Amino acid sequence: MKNNVQIGLLLLTITVIGIAAYNIYLRETTPPTRSFTEFLSEVRQGEIVSVHLRGGAITGKDHAGRQFATFAPDVASLLPLLLEQQVLITAEAEPVPGIADLFKALLPLLVLFGLWLIFSKKAAQSSVKGASPSARFTSIKGDRVTFKDVAGISEAKAELWEIVEFLKTPTKYSRLGGRIPKGVLLQGAPGTGKTMLAKAIACEASVAFFSMGGSDFVEMFAGVGASRVRELFVEAKKSAPCIIFIDEIDAIGGRRSGGHSSGSNDEREQTLNALLVEMDGFSSGETVIMIAATNRPDILDPALLRPGRFDRQITISLPDVKGRLKILEVHTRKIIAAASINLEEIARSIPGFSGAEIANLVNEAALMAARGNKDAVEMADFEQAKDKIIMGLEEKSIVVSEEDRRLTAYHESGHAIVALMLDETDPLHKITIIPRGRAMGLTQQLPLDERYTYSREYLHNRIKTLLGGRAAEALVFNRLTTGASNDIVAATEIASRVMCEWGMSAALGPVAYRSSEPGYAGESYRDKPHSEMIAQKIDEEVKMLIETCYDQAMTILRKHNTFLHKFAEVLLINETMDAEEVDIVYRSYLKERELERILTEKRGHDDTNIHTSNK
Ligand code: ADP
Ligand code: ZN
Repeated sequence: MKNNVQIGLLLLTITVIGIAAYNIYLRETTPPTRSFTEFLSEVRQGEIVSVHLRGGAITGKDHAGRQFATFAPDVASLLPLLLEQQVLITAEAEPVPGIADLFKALLPLLVLFGLWLIFSKKAAQSSVKGASPSARFTSIKGDRVTFKDVAGISEAKAELWEIVEFLKTPTKYSRLGGRIPKGVLLQGAPGTGKTMLAKAIACEASVAFFSMGGSDFVEMFAGVGASRVRELFVEAKKSAPCIIFIDEIDAIGGRRSGGHSSGSNDEREQTLNALLVEMDGFSSGETVIMIAATNRPDILDPALLRPGRFDRQITISLPDVKGRLKILEVHTRKIIAAASINLEEIARSIPGFSGAEIANLVNEAALMAARGNKDAVEMADFEQAKDKIIMGLEEKSIVVSEEDRRLTAYHESGHAIVALMLDETDPLHKITIIPRGRAMGLTQQLPLDERYTYSREYLHNRIKTLLGGRAAEALVFNRLTTGASNDIVAATEIASRVMCEWGMSAALGPVAYRSSEPGYAGESYRDKPHSEMIAQKIDEEVKMLIETCYDQAMTILRKHNTFLHKFAEVLLINETMDAEEVDIVYRSYLKERELERILTEKRGHDDTNIHTSNK
């Protein structure tokens, strides 16, 4: 910075001196001007020896040898007089403003422009330089964010609390030789609170916080990205224990191309390599924890995710109704809300909103109320703000349509109900219709204990469960959608392994057949090459198994049709259901069925009673 100021001052001085010298030069070379009347009288008196005409501009010499300049309003009428007085006349064409003249006229402007250029370039460079970690150092006292401020993502918070503990008392953990985690990768949609969480960790642990955007590293001249990574780490190590937060790490951490690459890729790869080297270069004494955020974990270079680097990955999903309510509660604390405000209702009406969008909603509502000169923010303001935000989101096509939500709810319910009705299968862990990455929803099953062997029954049930989603869609909407494509791939894979790898089909026998797919999980050199006939047989068997499983899934859903509708309804309202909630819904359904059964039995009895009495 100091250097820049000095250079600037020097340039300024040179310019001032230059301009002054130019002015003196002009004064010295330009003859003093005379009025035209004076000039005329001098000509008449024969004082003038020579003149030089240049358009109307006249320069010349008198007898005393003095130079002068003047301007003639009409040169033509002047000529006879000059000739009469025998003045030596030279002339040249009316000057067309030449480049030199233009330059002279513009010189001061050019100088100013040049100065501005130099300064702005310096400023730009200094902002590049100034973005060195120390300049981006975020003081914790500035904006304190605590874990309490981050609402609705308790699972992620619980996992990250451990990091806070590490930072607070590193020795407690390293004492016994344990390795403190180095890197945590937060993955989730924009605005889900990743930055906030990273800051909250630093605040809770009272350590320094360095933050940088991944794209800051790359949009630069060659080699700067890598050197900035090094600077960042030097700075961070000085203030250890601390947290380094890299937002949008995919900007530098995308998969390396390996081999031929364009220039910008080279730069990015250099930066990534520098980052990897720095991450590996910590000594155990330095408690520096890296937290990175991304929305695209799938495109990250695998090297980043290796042990000792970002080996902890925490997914932060969009909040469900309960989460949205909690986030609303946090943000409405800052505004004056009318007593009539029903946060639950608001939370329910904004499916798919991220934390940032909810914060925005509350703020917009407060602004709406202020515009209307209200004393408190009312429900109507929230309505209006919501419409405004949703409109913006629709433009970016982020909003999930109601139709898609319903379809997803039935799809996931289909998985869930098939799983519930089958015996030998993993218990349901979580069902959600909150979009995550490219998936519209998710039904998660967790094995009770690690399974090492799978029974045929279990595998068949797994296929049925996978196909339950598609079956539900077909049953309720009589429509096939692409939503089930992942399920179908997974089901097909299991079915082929059942046939080729695990020898579980009577028609094919317990023989391991080489799968047609290269790099297939079960493939090995021992697998038997097989004839075209066997290949056909395998295909037939796979298809048959899948079709049977699909039919059975469909049968289950038909049988429990009312449950399917109820389940989907609950899912549409709750958006996520954990094992406990599923259990409640399931048991109430069983009770209902039991009641129904007793009633029909009773009715049957009554019927017979009536019959007997009739006899
Ligand atoms: P990300 O880094 O995931 O894009 P941010 O952490 O920058 O998201 O979140 C942006 C803003 O959204 C935060 O400053 C906060 O106001 C709000 N926000 C996001 N998630 C939450 C949350 N879980 N609880 C409270 N506020 C949140
Ligand atoms: Zn599915």
